[in-house]
This record gives sequence, C-alpha cells and structure tokens, in this order.
Amino acid sequence: MDPLVTNGPSTADVRRDEAATSADAESQTRWRLSVDSARCVTSGFCVGSAPDHFTMEQVSRPSADVVAPDDAVVEAAECCPVEAILVLDARTGTQIAPKLVPPPTA
Ligand code: SF4
Repeated sequence: MDPLVTNGPSTADVRRDEAATSADAESQTRWRLSVDSARCVTSGFCVGSAPDHFTMEQVSRPSADVVAPDDAVVEAAECCPVEAILVLDARTGTQIAPKLVPPPTA
C-alpha cells in the first residue's frame, strides 16, 4: 500500500476542523439586550456593573441592541432589582439572563 494514499482526513485535520467550527460558532454568537422601561426603577446597578452596555437617560437602556457575549451583561441582568433586563441569544431567542427558575415541585 502506498503510504501517501490515505482513506480520509487525519486526526489532526479533524481536530483542526472541529476547533475552527467551534471558534466560528463562538465568534458568531450574539446576545440581544433589552430593558423594560416601564419596570426600570433607575437604581443604576446595570450602568455600574456593565457601563459599556447600559446608559442612563430617563431610565436605563442598552447602548447597543445586539452585543458579543459578556459576563458583565449577565451580572447586570441578575442584579437588576426588578428584572427589567432581558438577555437573549440573538439567533435562537433562548433566554440567557436572568436565569429561569423552574417551579417548585410538590
Ligand atoms: S438595574 Fe434594572 S432597575 Fe436598575 S437602572 Fe438598570 S434596568 Fe433599571
């Protein structure tokens, strides 16, 4: 058998392709931010914890509607005292924060 003839991609090729696919998926992930202005009580926690992502006018609002994933955004949503901040996966609509709490079981 000719050692230069192979039946498929090498393990290194497969791992390189998997790494590239994973990096592509991560680089394409975006989160959609929103603030319910009717709920916001202007505490300022979000602006303090994620100043790159929220600004305060009459009430808080996102600096941009769609952003790259950032833990500071999750922290802001989790710290909001009235759960006015919603963070969704921009592609799937899956809620990222605040975390959904399952109902208690009887
Ligand atoms: S943390 Fe919540 S209530 Fe406070 S300013 Fe931000 S959105 Fe408004």
